[in-house]
Amino acid sequence: MAFDLDEAIGAGRVGFFTDTSVCIGCKACEVACKEWNAVPEDGLTFTGMSYDNTVGLGADTWRHVAFIEQRRPLGHQEPGLNDQDFRWLMASDVCKHCTHAACLDVCPTGSLFRTEHGTVVVQEDVCNGCGYCVPACPFGVIGKREREQGGTAAKCTMCYDRLGAGQEPACAKTCPTDSIQFGDLEELRERAERRLEQVRGAGVTSARLYGHDTGDGVGGMGAFFLLLDEPEVYGLPPDPVVTTRDLPSMWRHAGAAALALMAGMTAAALLRRPAGAEAVSSALLGSAAPGRRRS
Ligand code: SF4
Ligand code: SF4
Repeated sequence: MAFDLDEAIGAGRVGFFTDTSVCIGCKACEVACKEWNAVPEDGLTFTGMSYDNTVGLGADTWRHVAFIEQRRPLGHQEPGLNDQDFRWLMASDVCKHCTHAACLDVCPTGSLFRTEHGTVVVQEDVCNGCGYCVPACPFGVIGKREREQGGTAAKCTMCYDRLGAGQEPACAKTCPTDSIQFGDLEELRERAERRLEQVRGAGVTSARLYGHDTGDGVGGMGAFFLLLDEPEVYGLPPDPVVTTRDLPSMWRHAGAAALALMAGMTAAALLRRPAGAEAVSSALLGSAAPGRRRS
């Protein structure tokens, strides 16, 4: 385990910039992800939640396209629905590959690790299935695959194998509108700022970047987003904080408390020694130091 909030991620960090303003909800990213990574089906059912039948991220859903219906116009869009204002917000969610990744902090086997690309990857063959990483993730991204004999954690790897071969991740490669953009994280951040200005200039003043700020509670995300509304609308926490943030100080306080307890118990034991024991120890002291005067 490594509770290191000053963890330095080397140069050449890559990431995703997901511009939800151009997502058309085709779900090609979900399909490409499943196909390339051989992610099994996750029990598709009719949820009755618009066109969303995967509901959220999990062990077998590494990309999830949310469909949110709102009675509001999208910028200057003319939806033509009997004069009703209506828009769909679509957003392809994914693991955030956090700068301070709590999943990685709590993993006792080293199954979760930081790659040379600055991404966070889980190795199925090293995972012991303890599941500590599942509640540690502040976004509910990582899940555990249940198997007859144990199970292992699983989540987006940002197509680690493809990156090693100089290829972009399957979802970004497939996205027909470039809603999912992959590349050098610093470059993506600059691109996202320019795009935000453009979208706001077009009248969508509620547009904002999410996970782009390196000063946020997870130190900035390796996968960040341009959203058209509040993060909560998309099911994202508005102010995520790395759940292991307080662990170093908790350990320090626990250590100090244990030392204080031991000191207190020792002092109490010395003070409560019986009179007989006092006499014996005085006698022993006297015989051990014959030249010493007793008072
Ligand atoms: S989003 Fe969750 S699973 Fe992904 S790196 Fe961050 S803490 Fe880990
Ligand atoms: S492939 Fe692109 S446009 Fe299609 S759902 Fe995914 S992010 Fe949206």
